[in-house]
Amino acid sequence: MSIIETDKKYVAGTYNRFPVEIVSGKGSVVTDIDGKQYIDMGCGIGVTAFGIADDEWQRAITAQIGKVQHMSNLYYTEPCALLAEQLCLRTGMKKVFFSNSGAEANECAIKVARKYAAEKHGADCYTVVTLNNSFHGRTLTTLAATGQEHYHELFRPLTPGFASIDAGDMDALVQLAEREKIAAVMIECVQGEGGVLPIPREFAVRLEQFCRANDIILIVDEVQTGNGRTGTLYSYMQYGLQPDVVSTAKGLAGGLPLGATMIGEKAQNVLGFGDHGSTFGGNPVCCAAALSILSRIDDELLAGVRAKSEFMFRAFSGAKGINAVTGMGLLIGLKTEKPAPEIVNRLIGDGVLCLTAKDKVRLMPALNIPDELLAAAVEKIKAACAG
Ligand SMILES: *Cc1c(COP(=O)(O)O)cnc(C)c1O
Repeated sequence: MSIIETDKKYVAGTYNRFPVEIVSGKGSVVTDIDGKQYIDMGCGIGVTAFGIADDEWQRAITAQIGKVQHMSNLYYTEPCALLAEQLCLRTGMKKVFFSNSGAEANECAIKVARKYAAEKHGADCYTVVTLNNSFHGRTLTTLAATGQEHYHELFRPLTPGFASIDAGDMDALVQLAEREKIAAVMIECVQGEGGVLPIPREFAVRLEQFCRANDIILIVDEVQTGNGRTGTLYSYMQYGLQPDVVSTAKGLAGGLPLGATMIGEKAQNVLGFGDHGSTFGGNPVCCAAALSILSRIDDELLAGVRAKSEFMFRAFSGAKGINAVTGMGLLIGLKTEKPAPEIVNRLIGDGVLCLTAKDKVRLMPALNIPDELLAAAVEKIKAACAG
């Protein structure tokens, strides 16, 4: 049996994979089993922040693997402590809880908000408000948080205590707050899975003011937008927000599983002994990887992300077959005349790997993709959209 046949036979059928078997790669180029090369404009959904098998990233993890690959959270390890310190120094947050994925980072954020609200405002204060068209994960609680009905259909009952409003609709939030106690509001600044849609700025600012005035925990989900992806370390920084809780994952460890929930001053002491835990969370190899990644997301790198982004916006705006370009930094959505899946399929033939998000073609190249490779991919994408 080929690997594709074996996978189809034995791996749970949750993924509609493209008929491509990737065997290796370097930087922004990946190679399939037949030796065909592709420019990687998806990065494992924004995970391989500095591309495939990056040298510096490899050195960081192999050095740690040679020391200790895992300890339980019963003991201290250096990478975990130093990564938490770095995240706090660079965001102004006060505490970090480590997990293994975006969904888990959001679960922790929700637990923090629920406990804070219960202690401060009573047991009937638990509702978490999210935005329609959001995506917060696949566990039953983060599905409840995800404001897209089609993800819910076959899995009810979901965790209760969630409500959703439209991005931009402050009145809906105010009305909801008159009917029930609200513990937290959770937003993405750019709805990634929802179609690469930045939320309106004035709305985000008013939302923050409302949360602050009513002692509601503001959670920003930076799982997709975080770690340099949008041109700042976290996307909320471009919105001028100061969230109480920030969750992140995807690109944080450059390709190893790591989630982080950062907790600001207001809720910094909410989690105590036994309130939460994770066997793998804070794994030293994953944390060493993230320390290496974070150390490279400096002003120069971020300026590069913004320059590459501007280049892409300029190249795609008004191009034939492209009706709109949305997003921030190197998280870009193309509203195309032809259906997005058709374009992505054609581009596989042309040697470019892209993503979709709702009806958009979604592009998330490595933060350090060389300009020549980016230009080559952009030309092929433009041709696929036009022809
Ligand atoms: C991908 C994603 C998640 C879920 O992350 P997993 O690691 O797949 O659990 C949550 N929120 C956002 C915004 C995401 O893009």
